[in-house]
Amino acid sequence: TAKSEGRNRYHFYAEDMAARARERMRIEQGLRRAIAADALAVHYQPRVELAGGRIAGVEALVRWPHPERGMILPGSFIAIAEESGIIEALGRWVLRRACREMLRLQTPLRLAVNVSARQFLAVDFVDHVAATLAETGFLADMLELEITESTLQATERSLGVIEDLGRLGVAVSIDDFGTGYSSLAVLRDLPIRRIKVDRSFIVDLAQSEQQRAVVEAVVALSRALRMSITVEGIERDEQAAILKQLGCDEGQGFLFARPMPFDELSRRIADGQWRGLPGKMPS
Ligand code: C2E
Ligand code: MG
Ligand code: MG
Ligand code: MG
Repeated sequence: TAKSEGRNRYHFYAEDMAARARERMRIEQGLRRAIAADALAVHYQPRVELAGGRIAGVEALVRWPHPERGMILPGSFIAIAEESGIIEALGRWVLRRACREMLRLQTPLRLAVNVSARQFLAVDFVDHVAATLAETGFLADMLELEITESTLQATERSLGVIEDLGRLGVAVSIDDFGTGYSSLAVLRDLPIRRIKVDRSFIVDLAQSEQQRAVVEAVVALSRALRMSITVEGIERDEQAAILKQLGCDEGQGFLFARPMPFDELSRRIADGQWRGLPGKMPS
């Protein structure tokens, strides 16, 4: 009957909710333990110059090597870390680990680290960045912090943080650009080093006249505002070729390299990859 069906549905719904709450708790507890035990990991993805294929820097991306579940990607735990407040400890851990590891490279490379809104806007954030640089010896002007447009919604506050970071020598870039709501006024007034154009803007680049027009406009915008531009999620030769032709300086994506552990990055750099050898890149 309709009544028992309704009851069943309610029953399933409640069970589903309970299961999700339990899963959340497991992730929170597991994350807290993993941070305390130094058991998270950082993978690195190169950012490369579209003309020449030379490596321009790397982005640090957190990973959670889980004993039973394998390597867990941030998509499964960053939101939970943000909602529970764990993100502050997690973010500090990633910054320290990435600075330490990157100092072990033979040749210094620029490092980009993702920072959530809650972490970025916390009162002690800039002090903590300064302390981490002092502790690890990583150079401030080799560090870039990636925030999203949602962080910029707190305009006054984020302007203050960006300026304080700037005084330290640390640059700020806007990640996933185009997926949020940053006003042109905010972009114009904030000292942003770089915009990273979200992958969704280039998935159909070769087929779509419209995507091409939008990317062209963003390139023009970045020039007018004197910001660097990096396009994310480049997977195919033709995307790289078109982006280069549209005047885009740099890209990141599986075409050039997937995110990888530090030792692999270090080995591949030593082997001369992304050195900008001719013939390695689409022209
Ligand atoms: P993001 O900062 O935009 O990082 C780029 C994401 O795109 C990474 O996913 C990367 O593996 C993926 N990617 C790179 N190239 C390609 C490509 O060619 N095709 C496709 N399909 N994907 C590509 P990942 O590592 O799973 O990270 C997802 C998001 O999690 C990041 O997006 C970032 O927002 C967040 N995140 C990662 N690490 C941290 C961290 O330490 N702190 C904070 N707060 N957030 C982080
Ligand atoms: Mg990023
Ligand atoms: Mg992004
Ligand atoms: Mg993102």
